[in-house]
Amino acid sequence: MVEDFIDTTKGEWRGEMVVEELGESEADIVKTIPIQQQFLLIDWGYTKSRIFSVKSTYHLEMRLKKMAKGEPSRTNNENGLWNEIWKLNVPAIVKNFVWKATNNCLPTKENLLKRKVVELALCPICSREVESVTHSLWSCATSSDIWAESVSPIKKWPSYELDFYPLWGRLVKNLNQGELEKVAAIMRKIWLRRNKFVFEEVFSNPYKIIRTVLDNLEEYQRAEKDLVCNLSSAVSGRAVVKWKRPSEGW
Ligand SMILES: [Zn+2]
Repeated sequence: MVEDFIDTTKGEWRGEMVVEELGESEADIVKTIPIQQQFLLIDWGYTKSRIFSVKSTYHLEMRLKKMAKGEPSRTNNENGLWNEIWKLNVPAIVKNFVWKATNNCLPTKENLLKRKVVELALCPICSREVESVTHSLWSCATSSDIWAESVSPIKKWPSYELDFYPLWGRLVKNLNQGELEKVAAIMRKIWLRRNKFVFEEVFSNPYKIIRTVLDNLEEYQRAEKDLVCNLSSAVSGRAVVKWKRPSEGW
């Protein structure tokens, strides 16, 4: 347990033990972690059964370093980009889906391999590349076909992207709200099509996919608009009713 590697009276790492367990170079990284940060491990999900390990601390540190080096924009604009998800006029299930995708929480083969659920990370559809979130929703040849359809709001965008989060950032920056809503809904449908292929070996054609999504989205947004109109007329109708004192005995 990680407590064994910490001198709690001094509030510091037991250097020799860490070196013995991990070797010199990795221990050097671990020893730079302030002791308080061990509590972050629960949130970061690097431990099993609530048992802390030095190894897990090492993973946390690597993640923190990566954030500090390669993903500064993520930390700065994090709230802004995520707020864009919640503002979309799409069903809540689509918002949740995009949120999961930006947080790399979809059960892609790559993520399942990390958790040792599968043995291969290859895309189950094209079998050519690792199935990351970006590959699945964006750059897989079968997803590119959908994005290239004439009714797609981003048909001329390049298919090559490494990480989903910056891709979402670029979409937010370059698309208007209506286009972003379409993209979000299409992404979820691409994921559903992928699942249908994996579990039922059924695969729909690109045009059918994008047409269905856009029609459903339009219907949803029309219904939402009607609902808002009906609510506002109901409110204004109620506003003119004035309270009157009941007659004696009522
Ligand atoms: Zn693929």
